Amino acid sequence: MSLAQGRSYLAIPGPSVMPDRVLRAMHRAAPNIYEGDLIDLTARVMTDLRRVALCSGHVAIYLANGHGAWEAAISNLFSRGDTALSLITGRFGLGWAQHARSLGVTVETLDFGIKAPVDPARVEAALRADTARKIKVVLLTHVDTASSVLNDVAAVRAAIDAAGHPALLAVDCIASLGCDEFRFDDWGVDVMVAASQKGLMVPPGLGLVWVSDKAVAACKGAGLVTPYWDWGPRIFAQEYWQQFGGTAPTHHLFGLAEALQMILDEEGLPQVWARHRTLSRSVAAAFEAWGQGGDIALNVPVAAHRSGAVTAARIGQGGAARLRAWCETEAGVTLGIGLGMAAPGTPEAGDFLRIGHMGHVNAHMVLGVLATMEAGLQALGLAHGGGGIQSAAAVIAAG
Ligand SMILES: *Cc1c(COP(=O)(O)O)cnc(C)c1O
Repeated sequence: MSLAQGRSYLAIPGPSVMPDRVLRAMHRAAPNIYEGDLIDLTARVMTDLRRVALCSGHVAIYLANGHGAWEAAISNLFSRGDTALSLITGRFGLGWAQHARSLGVTVETLDFGIKAPVDPARVEAALRADTARKIKVVLLTHVDTASSVLNDVAAVRAAIDAAGHPALLAVDCIASLGCDEFRFDDWGVDVMVAASQKGLMVPPGLGLVWVSDKAVAACKGAGLVTPYWDWGPRIFAQEYWQQFGGTAPTHHLFGLAEALQMILDEEGLPQVWARHRTLSRSVAAAFEAWGQGGDIALNVPVAAHRSGAVTAARIGQGGAARLRAWCETEAGVTLGIGLGMAAPGTPEAGDFLRIGHMGHVNAHMVLGVLATMEAGLQALGLAHGGGGIQSAAAVIAAG
């Protein structure tokens, strides 16, 4: 007998759970793209996108996923042969660096492993050593979704400034926006990328790029830019369609407007961040208790270095793969696969999993996932310490 019937739950780090009201906002006939509601709603979305990033600069919307947002940023930031410094704390940082390389950017990397954030002192030293000031942009991933490491964006900006280096700071917030605290203006960010399907709770399909005035000016004439990816006409559109390089992503805009209203005007951004932090701490508490009596561990050992949006963990001897399969087939919960922790196809690859807790997620959903996992650990005879759910519940109870 399987106990999986009922509403299934995708607890992977994107696409995330979509609120029913976001889906309802999208459920409509094709709107007029020349006048009326959609035009007014788009202006509101543009304003709210700046609000959600605490950005007084500009925002460009692309019909794309996160990879598209990566490419948009790279093509506006660089000319062929320019140099970037990429700070790596997991698979996604490597991916952005590789994407830039394949477009003709010379990418230097500083790798900080997969268990700890960027060390600003190493960034400062690398920039000081760049006496020719070749590095044009520092690429940083706020939360690397593979490792679940949370980086200190303000500290990286401080390191750039301490080195007296003119490099721009571009940040990938695809996993973190609308989950972990992020402040574009206050943290001195020049370019930030995100996508619709994670903390923003909308289906995949929108790639988003925020740009400071400084970056707009510094990037004029970048050689890699192509008509579709050029942020100029989107940011400074004379006509409605130019904001999207063609037909607007009509239904995504309705969904995004609803989601931003929920985040900004109903719950409030600080409360959204706090909710994610508490839910993430409850996940960590369960793993810490389980790890007392088995080969189970969180990927990121230091609590302050963990994201509020996603948790990467290890359950040895292939336990993670077995547990994922059990949770899906026996209980209707899909957990995320491990990424970048072991070579695919090797036995070790079965030791890693991730839990997405980004966006439209509350206490009962997280406790439900954790209790389901504990049932799976029992059912599979995987050794684990007791009190996992009690510990997670204590975090929730304390608020
Ligand atoms: C999901 C994700 C991406 C890739 O986004 P896609 O929509 O899958 O292209 C890139 N960076 C981070 C940090 C992510 O979480």
